[in-house]
Amino acid sequence: MSSASIHKAAWVIPVDRPPIENGVVEIHDGFITAVRPAKRHESCHDLGDMAILPGLVNAHAHLEFSLVERPFQPARPFTDWIRSLVAYRRREFSSDPNTKPEALNAGWYEVAMGGSTLVGEIATDGWSASAFKGNPTGPRLIAFRELIGLRPESVSEQLSLAERWLKREGEAPPAKTMQPVYGLSPHAPYSVAPELLSRSVELAKRYGAPVAMHLAETREELEFLAHGRGEFVEMLKSFGAWPEDGLPLGRRPLDILRTLTDAPRALVVHGNYLADDELDFIAARPQMSAVYCPRTHEFFGHDPHPWRQLLAKGANVALGTDGRGSNPDLMLWKELVFLRDRFPDVAPSTLLELGTRAGARALGFEHHCGTITPGKRADLVRIFLGHPTSNADPLESLFAAGNFPYGVICGGGLG
Ligand SMILES: [Zn+2]
Repeated sequence: MSSASIHKAAWVIPVDRPPIENGVVEIHDGFITAVRPAKRHESCHDLGDMAILPGLVNAHAHLEFSLVERPFQPARPFTDWIRSLVAYRRREFSSDPNTKPEALNAGWYEVAMGGSTLVGEIATDGWSASAFKGNPTGPRLIAFRELIGLRPESVSEQLSLAERWLKREGEAPPAKTMQPVYGLSPHAPYSVAPELLSRSVELAKRYGAPVAMHLAETREELEFLAHGRGEFVEMLKSFGAWPEDGLPLGRRPLDILRTLTDAPRALVVHGNYLADDELDFIAARPQMSAVYCPRTHEFFGHDPHPWRQLLAKGANVALGTDGRGSNPDLMLWKELVFLRDRFPDVAPSTLLELGTRAGARALGFEHHCGTITPGKRADLVRIFLGHPTSNADPLESLFAAGNFPYGVICGGGLG
Protein backbone atom coordinates (compact mmCIF):
# COMPACT_ATOMS: atom_id res chain seq x y z
CA MET A 1 0.00 0.00 0.00
CA SER A 2 1.47 3.35 -0.93
CA SER A 3 1.47 6.22 1.52
CA ALA A 4 2.10 9.94 1.22
CA SER A 5 2.27 12.67 3.82
CA ILE A 6 3.30 16.29 4.18
CA HIS A 7 4.90 17.48 7.42
CA LYS A 8 4.98 21.20 8.11
CA ALA A 9 7.00 22.95 10.82
CA ALA A 10 8.09 26.43 11.91
CA TRP A 11 11.52 25.50 10.56
CA VAL A 12 12.82 22.80 8.26
CA ILE A 13 16.60 22.47 8.53
CA PRO A 14 17.78 20.26 5.65
CA VAL A 15 21.56 20.65 6.45
CA ASP A 16 22.55 20.60 2.77
CA ARG A 17 20.79 23.93 2.12
CA PRO A 18 19.71 26.91 4.25
CA PRO A 19 16.92 26.53 6.85
CA ILE A 20 13.38 27.07 5.53
CA GLU A 21 10.92 29.04 7.67
CA ASN A 22 7.42 27.54 7.56
CA GLY A 23 8.79 24.63 5.59
CA VAL A 24 7.35 21.29 4.59
CA VAL A 25 8.81 17.88 3.94
CA GLU A 26 6.87 15.64 1.57
CA ILE A 27 7.21 11.92 2.12
CA HIS A 28 6.11 9.14 -0.21
CA ASP A 29 6.52 5.46 0.69
CA GLY A 30 9.21 6.22 3.24
CA PHE A 31 11.26 8.49 1.01
CA ILE A 32 11.57 12.28 0.83
CA THR A 33 10.04 13.62 -2.37
CA ALA A 34 10.21 17.37 -1.71
CA VAL A 35 11.45 19.95 0.79
CA ARG A 36 10.14 23.50 0.30
CA PRO A 37 8.29 26.47 1.85
CA ALA A 38 4.68 25.70 2.75
CA LYS A 39 1.91 26.89 0.41
CA ARG A 40 -1.02 28.84 1.78
CA HIS A 41 -3.88 26.69 3.06
CA GLU A 42 -2.27 23.42 2.06
CA SER A 43 -3.41 20.36 3.95
CA CYS A 44 -0.61 18.78 5.98
CA HIS A 45 0.49 17.55 9.42
CA ASP A 46 1.22 20.90 11.03
CA LEU A 47 3.82 20.39 13.79
CA GLY A 48 3.65 24.04 14.85
CA ASP A 49 6.60 25.35 16.86
CA MET A 50 8.98 22.64 15.91
CA ALA A 51 11.97 22.18 13.66
CA ILE A 52 12.36 19.19 11.35
CA LEU A 53 15.95 18.01 11.02
CA PRO A 54 17.57 15.00 9.38
CA GLY A 55 17.62 12.16 11.91
CA LEU A 56 20.79 12.40 13.99
CA VAL A 57 23.46 9.74 13.68
CA ASN A 58 24.93 8.13 16.77
CA ALA A 59 28.04 6.66 15.18
CA HIS A 60 29.26 4.75 18.23
CA ALA A 61 27.31 3.03 20.99
CA HIS A 62 27.39 -0.13 23.11
CA LEU A 63 23.71 -0.90 23.63
CA GLU A 64 24.46 -3.89 25.88
CA PHE A 65 25.18 -1.49 28.76
CA SER A 66 21.88 0.36 28.45
CA LEU A 67 20.54 -0.87 31.80
CA VAL A 68 23.55 0.57 33.63
CA GLU A 69 22.24 3.42 35.78
CA ARG A 70 25.42 5.41 36.02
CA PRO A 71 28.86 5.07 34.40
CA PHE A 72 31.26 2.44 35.75
CA GLN A 73 33.75 3.62 38.34
CA PRO A 74 36.52 4.50 38.63
CA ALA A 75 37.10 6.43 35.40
CA ARG A 76 40.84 6.23 36.06
CA PRO A 77 43.04 4.31 35.77
CA PHE A 78 41.39 3.17 32.54
CA THR A 79 42.18 -0.51 33.18
CA ASP A 80 40.23 -0.34 36.48
CA TRP A 81 37.26 1.03 34.51
CA ILE A 82 37.60 -1.95 32.11
CA ARG A 83 37.70 -4.34 35.08
CA SER A 84 34.41 -2.84 36.33
CA LEU A 85 32.89 -3.31 32.89
CA VAL A 86 34.06 -6.92 32.62
CA ALA A 87 32.72 -7.65 36.13
CA TYR A 88 29.35 -6.13 35.17
CA ARG A 89 29.12 -8.32 32.08
CA ARG A 90 29.94 -11.48 34.06
CA ARG A 91 27.48 -10.63 36.80
CA GLU A 92 24.50 -9.44 34.75
CA PHE A 93 24.58 -11.43 31.54
CA SER A 94 25.45 -14.88 32.91
CA SER A 95 22.68 -14.94 35.53
CA ASP A 96 19.71 -14.14 33.26
CA PRO A 97 19.67 -14.71 29.47
CA ASN A 98 16.93 -12.08 29.09
CA THR A 99 19.01 -9.24 30.47
CA LYS A 100 21.01 -8.65 27.33
CA PRO A 101 18.12 -8.50 24.82
CA GLU A 102 16.30 -6.21 27.27
CA ALA A 103 19.33 -3.93 27.47
CA LEU A 104 19.75 -3.84 23.68
CA ASN A 105 16.11 -2.91 23.14
CA ALA A 106 16.14 -0.31 25.94
CA GLY A 107 19.24 1.26 24.43
CA TRP A 108 17.69 1.32 20.98
CA TYR A 109 14.71 3.28 22.35
CA GLU A 110 17.01 5.68 24.13
CA VAL A 111 18.98 6.25 20.92
CA ALA A 112 15.66 7.18 19.23
CA MET A 113 14.65 9.43 22.12
CA GLY A 114 17.94 11.24 21.65
CA GLY A 115 16.95 12.04 18.06
CA SER A 116 18.98 9.42 16.17
CA THR A 117 17.71 7.37 13.25
CA LEU A 118 20.99 5.55 12.57
CA VAL A 119 23.34 4.01 15.11
CA GLY A 120 26.75 2.33 14.95
CA GLU A 121 26.43 -0.43 17.55
CA ILE A 122 29.19 -2.66 18.92
CA ALA A 123 27.78 -6.19 19.17
CA THR A 124 29.11 -8.90 21.49
CA ASP A 125 28.18 -12.49 22.44
CA GLY A 126 24.44 -13.07 22.54
CA TRP A 127 23.63 -10.13 20.25
CA SER A 128 20.70 -10.75 17.96
CA ALA A 129 18.57 -8.55 15.72
CA SER A 130 15.54 -10.28 17.24
CA ALA A 131 16.11 -8.22 20.42
CA PHE A 132 14.79 -5.17 18.54
CA LYS A 133 11.43 -6.54 17.48
CA GLY A 134 9.59 -4.15 19.82
CA ASN A 135 9.61 -1.34 17.32
CA PRO A 136 9.84 -2.11 13.61
CA THR A 137 10.38 1.54 12.66
CA GLY A 138 13.20 2.36 15.07
CA PRO A 139 16.70 3.57 14.22
CA ARG A 140 18.63 1.63 11.64
CA LEU A 141 21.50 -0.39 13.08
CA ILE A 142 25.00 -0.94 11.82
CA ALA A 143 26.10 -3.85 13.99
CA PHE A 144 29.87 -4.10 14.32
CA ARG A 145 30.83 -7.47 15.78
CA GLU A 146 33.44 -6.95 18.51
CA LEU A 147 36.57 -9.08 18.06
CA ILE A 148 39.06 -9.60 20.88
CA GLY A 149 42.12 -11.83 20.80
CA LEU A 150 45.85 -11.60 21.42
CA ARG A 151 46.76 -15.28 21.82
CA PRO A 152 47.13 -17.38 18.62
CA GLU A 153 44.27 -19.74 19.50
CA SER A 154 41.85 -16.86 20.12
CA VAL A 155 42.88 -15.18 16.86
CA SER A 156 41.71 -18.13 14.75
CA GLU A 157 38.54 -18.54 16.81
CA GLN A 158 37.67 -14.84 16.44
CA LEU A 159 38.30 -14.91 12.69
CA SER A 160 35.85 -17.74 12.15
CA LEU A 161 33.33 -15.92 14.34
CA ALA A 162 33.83 -12.78 12.23
CA GLU A 163 33.21 -14.68 9.02
CA ARG A 164 30.05 -16.30 10.37
CA TRP A 165 28.87 -12.85 11.45
CA LEU A 166 29.29 -11.39 7.98
CA LYS A 167 27.83 -14.44 6.22
CA ARG A 168 24.77 -14.50 8.52
CA GLU A 169 24.77 -18.30 8.50
CA GLY A 170 21.94 -20.12 10.15
CA GLU A 171 19.87 -17.04 10.77
CA ALA A 172 16.22 -16.57 9.96
CA PRO A 173 15.53 -13.66 7.59
CA PRO A 174 15.25 -10.42 9.55
CA ALA A 175 11.88 -8.92 10.40
CA LYS A 176 10.26 -6.89 7.64
CA THR A 177 11.79 -3.53 8.40
CA MET A 178 14.56 -4.34 10.85
CA GLN A 179 17.56 -5.10 8.68
CA PRO A 180 20.87 -4.31 10.31
CA VAL A 181 24.00 -3.84 8.27
CA TYR A 182 26.78 -6.02 9.60
CA GLY A 183 30.35 -4.88 10.18
CA LEU A 184 33.37 -5.79 12.28
CA SER A 185 34.99 -4.14 15.26
CA PRO A 186 38.47 -5.33 16.12
CA HIS A 187 38.24 -3.90 19.65
CA ALA A 188 41.45 -1.95 20.34
CA PRO A 189 45.24 -2.16 19.89
CA TYR A 190 45.70 -3.58 23.39
CA SER A 191 43.16 -6.39 22.85
CA VAL A 192 43.69 -7.37 19.20
CA ALA A 193 46.74 -9.12 17.78
CA PRO A 194 48.18 -7.60 14.57
CA GLU A 195 47.19 -10.75 12.66
CA LEU A 196 43.59 -10.57 13.90
CA LEU A 197 43.42 -6.93 12.85
CA SER A 198 44.83 -7.40 9.36
CA ARG A 199 42.80 -10.53 8.65
CA SER A 200 39.54 -9.03 9.93
CA VAL A 201 40.12 -6.02 7.67
CA GLU A 202 40.66 -8.46 4.77
CA LEU A 203 37.37 -10.15 5.62
CA ALA A 204 35.58 -6.79 5.80
CA LYS A 205 36.97 -5.92 2.39
CA ARG A 206 35.80 -9.21 0.94
CA TYR A 207 32.26 -8.68 2.28
CA GLY A 208 32.10 -4.94 1.68
CA ALA A 209 31.58 -4.43 5.43
CA PRO A 210 32.47 -1.39 7.53
CA VAL A 211 35.04 -1.59 10.35
CA ALA A 212 35.11 0.32 13.65
CA MET A 213 38.02 0.30 16.09
CA HIS A 214 38.83 2.10 19.32
CA LEU A 215 42.19 3.80 18.79
CA ALA A 216 44.55 6.16 20.63
CA GLU A 217 42.10 6.33 23.50
CA THR A 218 44.66 6.71 26.31
CA ARG A 219 48.33 7.63 26.74
CA GLU A 220 48.90 4.17 28.22
CA GLU A 221 47.81 2.65 24.90
CA LEU A 222 50.62 4.55 23.15
CA GLU A 223 53.09 3.19 25.70
CA PHE A 224 51.72 -0.30 25.18
CA LEU A 225 52.19 -0.09 21.41
CA ALA A 226 55.66 1.40 21.59
CA HIS A 227 57.18 -0.51 24.49
CA GLY A 228 54.84 -3.41 25.35
CA ARG A 229 54.56 -2.36 28.98
CA GLY A 230 52.29 -0.55 31.40
CA GLU A 231 48.85 -1.09 32.91
CA PHE A 232 47.42 -2.95 29.90
CA VAL A 233 50.07 -5.69 30.19
CA GLU A 234 49.23 -6.17 33.87
CA MET A 235 45.52 -6.32 33.10
CA LEU A 236 45.92 -8.77 30.20
CA LYS A 237 48.10 -11.07 32.30
CA SER A 238 45.52 -11.08 35.08
CA PHE A 239 42.83 -12.02 32.51
CA GLY A 240 45.06 -14.81 31.14
CA ALA A 241 44.94 -13.08 27.74
CA TRP A 242 48.60 -12.12 27.33
CA PRO A 243 50.37 -14.04 24.51
CA GLU A 244 53.43 -15.98 25.70
CA ASP A 245 55.57 -14.68 22.86
CA GLY A 246 54.56 -11.08 23.53
CA LEU A 247 53.66 -8.62 20.79
CA PRO A 248 55.73 -6.61 18.32
CA LEU A 249 57.15 -3.43 19.84
CA GLY A 250 57.91 -0.04 18.33
CA ARG A 251 54.37 0.44 17.02
CA ARG A 252 52.10 3.47 17.05
CA PRO A 253 48.49 4.29 16.04
CA LEU A 254 49.70 5.14 12.53
CA ASP A 255 50.53 1.45 11.98
CA ILE A 256 46.97 0.54 12.91
CA LEU A 257 45.57 3.27 10.64
CA ARG A 258 47.62 1.86 7.75
CA THR A 259 45.99 -1.54 8.25
CA LEU A 260 42.51 -0.01 8.52
CA THR A 261 42.97 1.76 5.19
CA ASP A 262 41.90 -1.36 3.29
CA ALA A 263 38.45 -1.47 4.91
CA PRO A 264 35.59 -0.17 2.73
CA ARG A 265 34.74 2.18 5.63
CA ALA A 266 36.83 2.64 8.75
CA LEU A 267 35.63 4.40 11.89
CA VAL A 268 38.46 5.46 14.17
CA VAL A 269 36.74 5.70 17.53
CA HIS A 270 38.01 8.23 20.11
CA GLY A 271 41.46 9.09 18.71
CA ASN A 272 42.08 11.24 21.78
CA TYR A 273 45.87 11.00 21.52
CA LEU A 274 46.46 10.86 17.76
CA ALA A 275 49.60 12.67 16.59
CA ASP A 276 49.53 15.34 13.93
CA ASP A 277 50.66 13.03 11.10
CA GLU A 278 47.96 10.55 12.15
CA LEU A 279 45.28 13.25 11.91
CA ASP A 280 46.64 14.03 8.42
CA PHE A 281 46.46 10.35 7.53
CA ILE A 282 42.75 10.19 8.39
CA ALA A 283 42.00 13.48 6.65
CA ALA A 284 43.59 12.24 3.43
CA ARG A 285 41.32 9.18 3.22
CA PRO A 286 37.67 9.68 2.34
CA GLN A 287 36.69 6.19 3.50
CA MET A 288 38.07 6.90 6.97
CA SER A 289 36.31 8.87 9.72
CA ALA A 290 37.08 9.86 13.27
CA VAL A 291 34.35 9.36 15.85
CA TYR A 292 34.37 11.77 18.77
CA CYS A 293 32.30 10.89 21.85
CA PRO A 294 32.17 14.26 23.67
CA ARG A 295 30.66 13.40 27.05
CA THR A 296 32.54 10.10 27.30
CA HIS A 297 35.74 12.01 26.56
CA GLU A 298 34.82 14.37 29.39
CA PHE A 299 34.04 11.49 31.74
CA PHE A 300 37.55 10.07 31.41
CA GLY A 301 39.17 13.50 31.84
CA HIS A 302 41.36 13.26 28.74
CA ASP A 303 43.48 16.00 27.17
CA PRO A 304 41.50 18.21 24.73
CA HIS A 305 40.18 16.19 21.80
CA PRO A 306 41.66 17.00 18.34
CA TRP A 307 38.25 17.18 16.58
CA ARG A 308 38.72 20.78 15.48
CA GLN A 309 42.19 20.04 14.09
CA LEU A 310 40.67 17.09 12.20
CA LEU A 311 37.97 19.35 10.77
CA ALA A 312 40.52 21.99 9.79
CA LYS A 313 42.46 19.31 7.92
CA GLY A 314 39.30 18.24 6.09
CA ALA A 315 38.66 14.96 7.94
CA ASN A 316 35.18 13.54 8.40
CA VAL A 317 34.31 13.75 12.10
CA ALA A 318 31.22 11.90 13.35
CA LEU A 319 29.79 11.90 16.87
CA GLY A 320 28.90 9.06 19.20
CA THR A 321 27.67 8.60 22.74
CA ASP A 322 29.65 5.42 23.48
CA GLY A 323 27.82 3.24 26.01
CA ARG A 324 26.19 3.97 29.34
CA GLY A 325 29.32 2.58 30.97
CA SER A 326 30.93 5.98 30.35
CA ASN A 327 27.99 8.29 29.61
CA PRO A 328 24.72 8.96 31.45
CA ASP A 329 22.60 8.26 28.33
CA LEU A 330 22.68 7.46 24.60
CA MET A 331 21.17 10.72 23.38
CA LEU A 332 23.10 12.28 20.53
CA TRP A 333 21.07 15.48 20.90
CA LYS A 334 22.66 15.96 24.32
CA GLU A 335 26.12 15.61 22.80
CA LEU A 336 25.28 18.51 20.48
CA VAL A 337 23.94 20.62 23.37
CA PHE A 338 27.10 19.78 25.33
CA LEU A 339 29.34 20.84 22.44
CA ARG A 340 27.39 24.06 21.88
CA ASP A 341 27.89 24.91 25.54
CA ARG A 342 31.60 24.01 25.65
CA PHE A 343 32.59 25.43 22.29
CA PRO A 344 30.46 28.57 21.74
CA ASP A 345 32.92 29.72 19.07
CA VAL A 346 32.12 26.73 16.82
CA ALA A 347 29.27 27.50 14.40
CA PRO A 348 26.09 25.57 15.28
CA SER A 349 25.82 24.58 11.60
CA THR A 350 29.15 22.77 11.99
CA LEU A 351 27.90 20.88 15.04
CA LEU A 352 24.71 19.91 13.25
CA GLU A 353 26.76 18.68 10.30
CA LEU A 354 28.80 16.42 12.61
CA GLY A 355 25.65 14.98 14.16
CA THR A 356 23.95 14.25 10.83
CA ARG A 357 25.73 14.18 7.47
CA ALA A 358 29.20 13.31 8.83
CA GLY A 359 27.78 10.42 10.85
CA ALA A 360 25.93 9.08 7.81
CA ARG A 361 29.10 9.26 5.77
CA ALA A 362 31.16 7.54 8.46
CA LEU A 363 28.75 4.59 8.40
CA GLY A 364 28.48 4.48 4.60
CA PHE A 365 24.95 5.90 4.48
CA GLU A 366 25.54 9.33 2.98
CA HIS A 367 23.40 8.48 -0.07
CA HIS A 368 20.51 7.27 2.10
CA CYS A 369 20.22 9.74 4.98
CA GLY A 370 21.99 12.54 6.87
CA THR A 371 20.30 15.45 5.05
CA ILE A 372 16.71 16.28 4.10
CA THR A 373 17.10 15.73 0.39
CA PRO A 374 14.57 14.41 -2.15
CA GLY A 375 15.40 10.79 -2.95
CA LYS A 376 16.78 10.01 0.50
CA ARG A 377 15.01 7.91 3.11
CA ALA A 378 12.66 9.92 5.31
CA ASP A 379 14.79 9.59 8.45
CA LEU A 380 13.92 12.73 10.37
CA VAL A 381 13.76 14.13 13.87
CA ARG A 382 11.29 16.70 15.16
CA ILE A 383 12.78 19.17 17.61
CA PHE A 384 10.39 20.87 20.00
CA LEU A 385 11.34 24.54 20.10
CA GLY A 386 10.59 25.32 23.74
CA HIS A 387 12.99 28.16 23.16
CA PRO A 388 11.28 29.68 20.11
CA THR A 389 13.42 31.24 17.49
CA SER A 390 12.39 34.44 15.78
CA ASN A 391 15.65 35.63 14.31
CA ALA A 392 16.77 34.97 10.78
CA ASP A 393 19.10 32.13 11.75
CA PRO A 394 17.27 29.41 13.69
CA LEU A 395 20.54 27.51 14.17
CA GLU A 396 21.76 30.14 16.63
CA SER A 397 19.23 29.00 19.21
CA LEU A 398 18.63 25.44 18.03
CA PHE A 399 20.66 23.85 20.83
CA ALA A 400 19.33 26.13 23.56
CA ALA A 401 18.11 24.66 26.84
CA GLY A 402 14.41 23.88 26.54
CA ASN A 403 14.63 22.48 23.01
CA PHE A 404 14.51 18.70 22.77
CA PRO A 405 13.80 15.85 20.33
CA TYR A 406 10.08 15.17 20.06
CA GLY A 407 10.33 11.84 18.30
CA VAL A 408 12.04 10.46 15.26
CA ILE A 409 10.53 9.45 11.94
CA CYS A 410 12.41 6.46 10.49
CA GLY A 411 11.71 5.69 6.87
CA GLY A 412 8.57 7.77 7.02
CA GLY A 413 7.07 5.90 10.00
CA LEU A 414 6.72 7.35 13.46
CA GLY A 415 9.36 5.85 15.77
ZN1 LIG B 1 33.32 2.27 22.60
